[in-house]
Amino acid sequence: MCIFCKIVAKEIPSHVLYEDEGYLAILDISQVTKGHALILPKTHYDDFRVAPDDVSGKCISIAKRLSFQLEQTYAPLGYNLLSNCGEAAGQSVHHLHFHLIPRYDETDGLVLKFNAADHPDLKKIADEINQKK
Ligand code: 5GP
Ligand code: ZN
Repeated sequence: MCIFCKIVAKEIPSHVLYEDEGYLAILDISQVTKGHALILPKTHYDDFRVAPDDVSGKCISIAKRLSFQLEQTYAPLGYNLLSNCGEAAGQSVHHLHFHLIPRYDETDGLVLKFNAADHPDLKKIADEINQKK
């Protein structure tokens, strides 16, 4: 059983922010920023690529609801909502989850930087991807 399945089964304690029949939102143990939450389905899916669309959709709607609560609690300036898929992307727990990370300022705990490529050939890239439709 994976660590999040154990949390769902209450074999491992967690701080619950939201729970219903099929979903759970908890505080991430590492709190990258204050209020950093994880939203997950109780059913195990490895990641968003293998989960049914409505499962990811429901996670995002729970994240939206939580963001309003965080708003009233800590008044963050913004949020990052992200799901790591694959070890190359930083996924360490292979049970679908979305991180909801409230953002406070540039010195908070999350560094997320998009390094733009020099002169990307957008047409070529789009053509290559679109060939696989
Ligand atoms: P990933 O790296 O897979 O995107 O995120 C996994 C997250 O799960 C990490 O941010 C990590 O801190 C969190 N995590 C790992 N083990 C536990 C745990 O036992 N309890 C809680 N609440 N979070 C955990
Ligand atoms: Zn699991």
